[in-house]
Amino acid sequence: MRFSDPVEKLKGVGPKMASVLSRLDIATVGDLLDHKPAYYKDLSQITPIYAADEGSFLICKGTVTSSPRWIKRTGGFSLFSFTVADGTGTLTINIFNIPYLFKNYKIGDTYYFLGRAKAFHRKLQMDNPEVIKEENLRGIAPYYPLTSGLTQNKLKTIIKNALETAEYEDMYSDGFLSEYGLLHSKDDYRFMHLPESMDELSRSKRSLSLKEILVFLKTLELTAVKREETKRVDIDDSVLDEFLSLLPFKCTGAQIRAMKDILSDIRKDRVANRLIQGDVGSGKTAVALFGVYAMKKAGLQSLILAPTSLLAEQHYNTAKNIFGDEVRLLKGAASKKEHEELNSLLSEGKVSVLISTHAVLYEHFDFRALKLMIIDEQHRFGVEQRSFLMNSYPGIHKISMSATPIPRSLAMILHGNADISLLDEMPEGRMPVKTFILRPNKREDMYDWAAGRIREKDEKAYIVCPLLEESEELPANSVMNVYEELRKRYPDIPVEFIHGKMKNQEKQDIMQRFKTGETRMLVSTTVVEVGVDVQDATMMIIENADRFGLAQLHQLRGRVGRGSRESFCYLISDGAGMERLKVLKDSNDGFYIAKKDLEFRGTGNFFGTEQHGDMTFAFADLLRDMDLFEEGKQMLSVMERDFREDYDALLTKVEDKIKDENNKYIVI
Ligand code: ADP
Ligand code: MG
Repeated sequence: MRFSDPVEKLKGVGPKMASVLSRLDIATVGDLLDHKPAYYKDLSQITPIYAADEGSFLICKGTVTSSPRWIKRTGGFSLFSFTVADGTGTLTINIFNIPYLFKNYKIGDTYYFLGRAKAFHRKLQMDNPEVIKEENLRGIAPYYPLTSGLTQNKLKTIIKNALETAEYEDMYSDGFLSEYGLLHSKDDYRFMHLPESMDELSRSKRSLSLKEILVFLKTLELTAVKREETKRVDIDDSVLDEFLSLLPFKCTGAQIRAMKDILSDIRKDRVANRLIQGDVGSGKTAVALFGVYAMKKAGLQSLILAPTSLLAEQHYNTAKNIFGDEVRLLKGAASKKEHEELNSLLSEGKVSVLISTHAVLYEHFDFRALKLMIIDEQHRFGVEQRSFLMNSYPGIHKISMSATPIPRSLAMILHGNADISLLDEMPEGRMPVKTFILRPNKREDMYDWAAGRIREKDEKAYIVCPLLEESEELPANSVMNVYEELRKRYPDIPVEFIHGKMKNQEKQDIMQRFKTGETRMLVSTTVVEVGVDVQDATMMIIENADRFGLAQLHQLRGRVGRGSRESFCYLISDGAGMERLKVLKDSNDGFYIAKKDLEFRGTGNFFGTEQHGDMTFAFADLLRDMDLFEEGKQMLSVMERDFREDYDALLTKVEDKIKDENNKYIVI
């Protein structure tokens, strides 16, 4: 079976299962093998019942000592219980709403019970644990992301089939693989899906990650900004003071230093490649707009790219205050008429700055004198997409902005030897956001309190949920449920909801109403995570906070506390991941939080591309695998010298990928 064969060729996969799998973007055998477990459980760690700690996830082995008995059994609800013992203690198992399991449990049967233990009336209990038969408990169990119509067991069987029948191809020679401790592709996949030990798991993790990193680094290398010659821009120092006087606030020292860096860049006769790195709220936008201002003064044009239409719109509104009529926004694909209109404005030089999402890549504009491109939240653009961005307009300066907390050396690798300006100072007058962790039973009180502030102090709240709609697989609060709840509970407060699947215009209208205060509570998915700036929003409420990565929570929290008002962040959690959440309570430093985040990640998400608001890799993780990125960098140069064939194979692969990507855009 080839990797490119459709999944339907596999035993046990008919058209119906194929359509279920397609919902997970799995169409081919290769896609199936690339479907990573979301996490693993190490089933070798059995906890004796007497040592079971309340609240933590455990595996207990127990023999049924009392037959199941019904506690409640009404129309829509059922609960039965039984007890198990392991010689060190007894544990009560409660099964809610799965009545047909009642007859499964017989005195004397032995099972493994996986779940969280809790004490109730001083008795140790587990609610709806996962139950595994004694003979099926083996090694390390993968848990895959699922969709409805698919169970873990069914998916495991299909993947096992694929593993056995796939024809593996190795891009690299045996010599190269063994030199660097990389695995054959067959073992990469076998150890990822069916690890017998932690050692196998980590070997496959390292191997898959390094292979991915090699491709990534080579792509960066081939597409790095070319520091070609360009005409220097003659401009006087006074432009800086002039710009500063237009701002409604006093810039930080770090902002001014970054602006001076930009000024010196554009006076040089080489194309600039500068990264503005600064934590959320450090004020990167103002720095970027200075670049635009300086260009305008010299009669030159700029292009600002944002990863979402929400952000593009927001920058547009900010830029309008400074550039008035000379700024235009490209919201998405333009109609023929709009395109012509915009193009003539740009070609006549009447517009000095165009703000856009990547939509601009699909269109051709005849800028009269484009000289600067600014890419906000650069990591949100895919690598190939970015490289296209970087080189699509030759001879112009590039400034990218990022909030990713990585050390300088890694930033240099990732941004193609960029010069870096660090915004390591927060604007004056910011009060730290007061952060609280809250149990669900205090949730309604907190909402009442928030509603009170909204009524009395004219404040605004974001409410973020991990899900858009209710889901059986993942019990958590959803945007739609919470929206309904709040709307009913506070009929006098205007509540709206927003999510990524809405049309751009709709999203912008909703944000606009939230900005103006027409809307006071905004229930949202993580679409508000990146860059959204509503100055006077003061409350960030996060439902099921333990479902989010720490860095992501830090980004979300960064949406409030942007003005001078006292701001609050409420992390609602039922006790899961409490230690992790406490990190946020204790710190507001993106670097520190990212570091802690790493420490907390165990085998849970082994192939974790836990969202930390950054470039996502399939296997590698930017923060955790920092040393692999360094190692990959060194490997590339050794490869070029000593493993010529492997090097050429890599080169061909990367060149093909770039070509594919560039074909999607109009090359200018
Ligand atoms: P980020 O670095 O996260 O992109 P922004 O550029 O969006 O941050 O700035 C966050 C908010 O702080 C904006 O509302 C901006 O107007 C404001 N701001 C930026 N610089 C300063 C400053 N020096 N003093 C006060 N407020 C500032
Ligand atoms: Mg920003």
